[in-house]
Amino acid sequence: MPPTSSSIRTENSTVPTQHTYSRSGFDVTPLSEARVAELATKLTPEAFRVTQGSGTEPAFCGNLVDNKLHGVYCCVVCGLPLFSSESKFNSGTGWPSFFTPVDAAHVSERVDRTHGMERTEINCARCRSHLGHVFSDGPRPTGLRFCLNSAALTFYEKGSPMPIVSQPIKTETAYFAGGCFWGVEHVFQEAPGVITATSGYMQGSVERPTYEQVCTGKTGHAEAVQVIFDPSVISFRQLLEGFFELHDPTQVNRQGPDSGTQYRSGVFCTDAAQLAQAQEFIAKLGASTRFSAPIATQVELAKTFYPAEDYHQDYVQNTGRVCHVGNPWPQVLGATK
Ligand SMILES: [Zn+2]
Repeated sequence: MPPTSSSIRTENSTVPTQHTYSRSGFDVTPLSEARVAELATKLTPEAFRVTQGSGTEPAFCGNLVDNKLHGVYCCVVCGLPLFSSESKFNSGTGWPSFFTPVDAAHVSERVDRTHGMERTEINCARCRSHLGHVFSDGPRPTGLRFCLNSAALTFYEKGSPMPIVSQPIKTETAYFAGGCFWGVEHVFQEAPGVITATSGYMQGSVERPTYEQVCTGKTGHAEAVQVIFDPSVISFRQLLEGFFELHDPTQVNRQGPDSGTQYRSGVFCTDAAQLAQAQEFIAKLGASTRFSAPIATQVELAKTFYPAEDYHQDYVQNTGRVCHVGNPWPQVLGATK
């Protein structure tokens, strides 16, 4: 999911159109310069000099060089976890050294040509703070040596409480069926706050069905999309709104050219709260004048979701073929945020 700098203007706020999440579940959307400046006011003069001015602390002087406790090393500015005690080693250089970050997406790199050398500078991917440099003389398994300034890090010992900014986001999951899953997956992938959208099969009677089995229409499965999302950015209600924009819920057991029960419209809920919300939303929609035919969307609790074969994932992105139109998210987020 590439980061983008575009945004949607609403009356009261600017809603980012896309958030970037790391595999380990952190929101790594780059912070604005104003936010970084605000966070930096809380730093010690030494941490400010190092992180905001690309400074280097003298060798053997940092407080974390000899730290052997188990725990996590986070960015001193924004709190993002960067390194773990599990990859720390004694390099003998006088700076805390690690052979890998906790998540490659948490540390960014850029060429540093200062001091008559060409080195690779490492920065926090979220707040761009200077951390140190990475060299290719490290131990196995990576052969890399991430050379850090203690002043750029906050250490949290294993078991001690971590601030919210140092914790992975709490995600929620929703499932939607709206015809061919290629297009449904693509539209959900474009939603701000959606971490992953995965095509699959659910609500049927056969375990681990294949595409060919589902295509017979005899297994009872619907082509569905699992949406894992960040509820602090987009709500289940907003996902529902987008879902009813991207397909025609009045079509029974079909969607456009695709016909069969596997193409039925459905919201498969992960808990009673989602179920009640979906039922209420659909009841209101049905009572409105928006659709001229009854809404055929099936609403029930989710059964096991089986991810579809690899070639069905990211199909629109990989082939350029589009089967559902439009991007409803600017309208959805602009209307209710
Ligand atoms: Zn940071």
